[in-house]
Amino acid sequence: MGQIVVLDQNMVNMIAAGEVIERPASVVKELMENSIDAGATKIIVSIEDGGRKLISVADNGCGMDSEDLAKAFESHTTSKIKTSSDLRTISTLGFRGEALASIASVAQVRAVSRPVLERSEGMKNSAAANCVEIDCGNKGSVSPCSANYGTTVQVRDLFYKLPARRKFLRTANTEMTHIIEHFTRIALANSDLDMTLTHNGRELYVLLDRQSLRQRIAELFSPEISENLIETESKERGLHIFAFLGRPGVSRTNKKFQYVFLNGRFIRDRFISHAIQEAYRGSLEPDRFPVVFLFIQMPYEDYDVNVHPTKIEVRFYNANLVHSQILASLREKLLGINLDVDAKLPATTGAFKQQEDTPAAHLRSPKITDAMAEFFKKHRPIQTQQQFEREVPSARRKARYAPLPSAKAEKGDQIPDTRYEKPQQQRKFLQIHDSFIATETDEGFIIIDQHALHERIVYEDLCRRIRQGKLEAQKLLIPESFQLTDAQADVLKTNAELIEKLGIELAPFGPKTMAVQAFPTLLSKAAPLDFVRDLLDLLTDKGAGLDAEKLLDEVLNMAACKAAIKAGQKLSDSEIEQLLADRERVQRASRCPHGRPTTIKFSTGDLEKQFKRT
Ligand code: ADP
Ligand code: MG
Repeated sequence: MGQIVVLDQNMVNMIAAGEVIERPASVVKELMENSIDAGATKIIVSIEDGGRKLISVADNGCGMDSEDLAKAFESHTTSKIKTSSDLRTISTLGFRGEALASIASVAQVRAVSRPVLERSEGMKNSAAANCVEIDCGNKGSVSPCSANYGTTVQVRDLFYKLPARRKFLRTANTEMTHIIEHFTRIALANSDLDMTLTHNGRELYVLLDRQSLRQRIAELFSPEISENLIETESKERGLHIFAFLGRPGVSRTNKKFQYVFLNGRFIRDRFISHAIQEAYRGSLEPDRFPVVFLFIQMPYEDYDVNVHPTKIEVRFYNANLVHSQILASLREKLLGINLDVDAKLPATTGAFKQQEDTPAAHLRSPKITDAMAEFFKKHRPIQTQQQFEREVPSARRKARYAPLPSAKAEKGDQIPDTRYEKPQQQRKFLQIHDSFIATETDEGFIIIDQHALHERIVYEDLCRRIRQGKLEAQKLLIPESFQLTDAQADVLKTNAELIEKLGIELAPFGPKTMAVQAFPTLLSKAAPLDFVRDLLDLLTDKGAGLDAEKLLDEVLNMAACKAAIKAGQKLSDSEIEQLLADRERVQRASRCPHGRPTTIKFSTGDLEKQFKRT
């Protein structure tokens, strides 16, 4: 009896601080967000000792007069919402009115603020600066001081009266990593603001408002990432989507480089994450994650931010729409662009002399020269080298019947390609070690992995046909029989529809025995029995865990792999021509269905640099 007491306000704030203020980085985030809400165009963040000693955020925003400054550190005080209806359309980053109170309950805080003239016209002492100090919830009085327009909040000795929390702070470096992460998110979402971050007096980032988002990404991440981003934008059904999509070459082993912003707020959302991953499916190996910067704008009333203390999660009222719009927008872009991989030739920047200084560099150029010489020696234009035209089928037909200039070169001249006039639009190709195909392009040449490319072609054809109905099948002259277990018989029964869609016809052929009666024509290169066995294994392993669409995709993947030309398989000239023509036709030809590259590009410019011609 009589056990329950009402906690005093400072205790309430400390408890709130437990949710909102996890570590120095949370303080940085809350203070920077306040500066942005105050309309600042410049924010300076200074940190000492990983934030343990000092976190200072100075802005040139609207500032506060003495009355507001006194109130700002009370709990549940905010200028951003007034009525419950405001909660439905929150356009500011803050609104809970508890950040400053929480921070001030667990540290020593000094805040200085000077409001801009226009805002406070008519108020007493409006343009004067004031300051206030709060020591773990004990607030001093507001007193005048001198300061620039805007607000500076300094937070010292975070958690100093809470040894248990302070003990959990990590090294200055680790805390700085977290601070940089929050700084980065805010800097990306507000690329039109000047922002500086210093640690122990050293400038880590000086970001200018003049720079483009791409330049900002180069500074915050790396020039390599920034140069490998594809821009896309769409506006449909109330959703404005702008994204920088990382090319597969800069992909990662985790999702850390996926930044999603909703109306300027960094958020985490599993629907959006899923949409990103789906958009890249087939463009990236399954264990890789793309670098993505995604900026979404939508009406404030279409989602709720009041679901998480740090507001990192939101609730979309129509999550399916958000998912499908993002997926469609990103996927369309990724399908439409060429993701061929650029060959990684050794860097040739710097003086030639300087290159020779390093032992590895010394070896590089001759190595490439040798490789090229070897390449042309092995593949003189005798049998495999042909001319054909890629882009215009009718022109290609013509070229086939015309006397081939390469035939002339074959007889008298062993030098492969430079001695004769090359007809416009005609390309040469070579099969290398029965596995790769090299062919000329306008910019240089490409090397294709014949299996990977054909796998993509077969996969795309399979997908297209399946979308239209079932695959066309051909009766086997002699049905091929196989034994199956009860469990496998069950799997066949459960997946009867899928098997029929594939155009595979199975019929009982005695006790525990089935026979393959018909097999899809598109898979004619695969052995029916072998294929059905693997199909059964796949359905047994994955059938239960995947939805119908994913399962079908897995099956088509496997089918494409089995029916595709193999590495080590000699191809006739017409087969190579067909492969190269199909490459122009199918979507995502740059990647096999598992996301591995099919094509590596070499530009003449790079080669010339390597051979020191430029
Ligand atoms: P919230 O941001 O949720 O409103 P805070 O505790 O972070 O709550 O801040 C309380 C109030 O103090 C804000 O609503 C705002 O009016 C004022 N404020 C805080 N920081 C600044 C700043 N940098 N410039 C101007 N006003 C500020
Ligand atoms: Mg706030």
